[in-house]
Amino acid sequence: MSESIYLDHAATTPLRPEVRAAMVAALEGPFGNPSSTHAYGRKAKVEVEKTRKAIASELGVSPGEVIFTSGGTEADNAALLLPVRDLKIGRIITAATEHHAVLHAAEQIARCYSVKLELVRLDAQGRVDLNDLEAKLKAGPRTLVSLMHANNEIGNLLDLQAAGELIHRYDGIFHSDTVQTLGHYRLNLAELPVDMLSCSAHKFYGPKGIGFLVLRNHLKLESYLTGGAQERGMRGGTENTPGLVGLGKAWELAYAHLDAERAHIQDLKLYFRDALQENIPQVEFNGLSADLDQSLYTVLSTRFPQLENDGGMLLFNLDLAGIAVSGGSACSSGSLQGSHVIRSLYPENKAATVRFSLGVSNTHEQLDRTVEVLKQHLN
Ligand code: PLP
Repeated sequence: MSESIYLDHAATTPLRPEVRAAMVAALEGPFGNPSSTHAYGRKAKVEVEKTRKAIASELGVSPGEVIFTSGGTEADNAALLLPVRDLKIGRIITAATEHHAVLHAAEQIARCYSVKLELVRLDAQGRVDLNDLEAKLKAGPRTLVSLMHANNEIGNLLDLQAAGELIHRYDGIFHSDTVQTLGHYRLNLAELPVDMLSCSAHKFYGPKGIGFLVLRNHLKLESYLTGGAQERGMRGGTENTPGLVGLGKAWELAYAHLDAERAHIQDLKLYFRDALQENIPQVEFNGLSADLDQSLYTVLSTRFPQLENDGGMLLFNLDLAGIAVSGGSACSSGSLQGSHVIRSLYPENKAATVRFSLGVSNTHEQLDRTVEVLKQHLN
């Protein structure tokens, strides 16, 4: 049996050994409640605040603007709920290709708070049509716009600067789901016109179940998880100290190694794209995935038209060969309808769709083997 190959880093990443070691030390070390004022509590509090400060400093925000959450889903839900509940927001605009943590939250909040929900137009490759966004913003009530920085299935990147400037010109509030890009890209909110960001540690070699929401100070919002005074009173509940230590370590290492790791993964993506085209000429790429400048360097999203209505079988065969990939997002892989992102871009699509997502420990040899296995099943 050959080695197993993990090509599903957009679903989740393995813990870095240093992150694991830091978390074990935190589990064995200061167990105090960070809210306690005695020495045990103070020690734990130092760990929590160290993580907060490191994140704030990288993102160009103040530490109080970082609200720790249980991950990306909670951060997205809070970002959609709070402006509608507490500010005079009459409408949410988002896109059909957003993660369900945004789309389903937007649908529910729009229903419960009787605000309008509109979807911005996308072009044939899934780019957000900023002219359509402007036309919509011109003609409506004060709006919360939620548009992701990078799509988790097809990898399309959004120009946050252009989108944010436009949204602010019309007095809108801008949330971006940056779950796939934080830890992989540098963002500076001292310059970028974005009001809220979501982040999840398990997408950059940190633990699952921990992340954060950045809420810029000018938004005057009240708590959404009511209880103790943690997280500036926004989110009650005793902090997950080991998780936060893991998030902090993963964050530190992600940014310390960002340039070298990005160069390595980008090189793998190019190599794999070219090898697929050479060996499986019918391959097609979803959205902007094949374009290095306009898509996540970690994601290559493919379609194989020679295999109609049989994507599941291809994923199964890859799995049998020890190669882990996904059809769309991990969250929708159990769904009979398949990926809502692929459906919204290619309604007639019957071709097998495979998302390959690359990480720091992948190699050219692993990609060669993946191409060989694909050839066996596709040619
Ligand atoms: N948003 C995007 C773009 C994602 O890829 C994910 C993870 O699958 C989430 C939100 C949800 O994050 P979490 O798994 O931390 O709840």
